[in-house]
Amino acid sequence: MAPIVEGRPFEVAPGVFVVPDGRVPLVPNVGVVVGDRAALVVDTGLGPGNGAIVRGIARELAGDRPLVLTLTHFHPEHGYGAQAFGGATIVYNRAQRDELRDKGQGYVAMFRGLGEDVARELEGVELVQPHVVYDGAAELDLGGRTVELRSLGPAHSRGDQVVFLPEERILFTGDLVETRSFPIFPFFPPHDVDVDGRAWIAVLEALERIGPRVVVPGHGEVGDGTLLAATRGYLTLRDAETARLGADGRDGDAIVAELEPRLRERYPDWDYPEWIAFGVRSVLARAR
Ligand SMILES: [Zn+2]
Repeated sequence: MAPIVEGRPFEVAPGVFVVPDGRVPLVPNVGVVVGDRAALVVDTGLGPGNGAIVRGIARELAGDRPLVLTLTHFHPEHGYGAQAFGGATIVYNRAQRDELRDKGQGYVAMFRGLGEDVARELEGVELVQPHVVYDGAAELDLGGRTVELRSLGPAHSRGDQVVFLPEERILFTGDLVETRSFPIFPFFPPHDVDVDGRAWIAVLEALERIGPRVVVPGHGEVGDGTLLAATRGYLTLRDAETARLGADGRDGDAIVAELEPRLRERYPDWDYPEWIAFGVRSVLARAR
């Protein structure tokens, strides 16, 4: 299936919209938060064509309000449509901005190798620098509605950012959570080894403490706070089992061979089991 944003936006609270990914690979869930004076777009889809689609949806929902764009992290399917947002104010956390500078072109090359459909969407892609960067946390006043941005990486990536609406208790997590899917572990040595499973667990615990009512994951269906616990439970189990098998003297291949089928059995309705092995190898690399 081509990685194209085709979902119709639905409201998770008045003025808060999600364009659902429809479980299409390399399509993210996209958010549009409409305030009295401005509207915030969260993630763009892969490449300039998807960016234009998302910008069109945002325009329909937001009318002539100025647009602000932010991205949950630097991965191509989340942010490499930003060039379609000319005229919008673009805000990233500093860690994400730096990670995009360091790795952005490498990820374009890697994603082009994933298939013709993906390469087509990346034709003419330009990596876009933000107008505003922040450290730690920032608040956006959209008019009658405040949105909190929090920089929480490294976890899934070095520069993970979440978007939280404190009044409605809605949380956009990016790929810190994916519904009914093995967590994406972008452990690609030697090019990218920044994914940090232990830190990821701590980030999820912190997010559980803020008590979201609605969780919009990076991919997969919108849910509630139990999505955070489900991801944390998987990561905790996988790490403990990896450590236990490693302590028994098994090497990485043996651990993957033993653990992968058991975890698939434990999570029979989760997609993308190929990420199990990447995760195990990341845990082992960090334990060295
Ligand atoms: Zn990602």
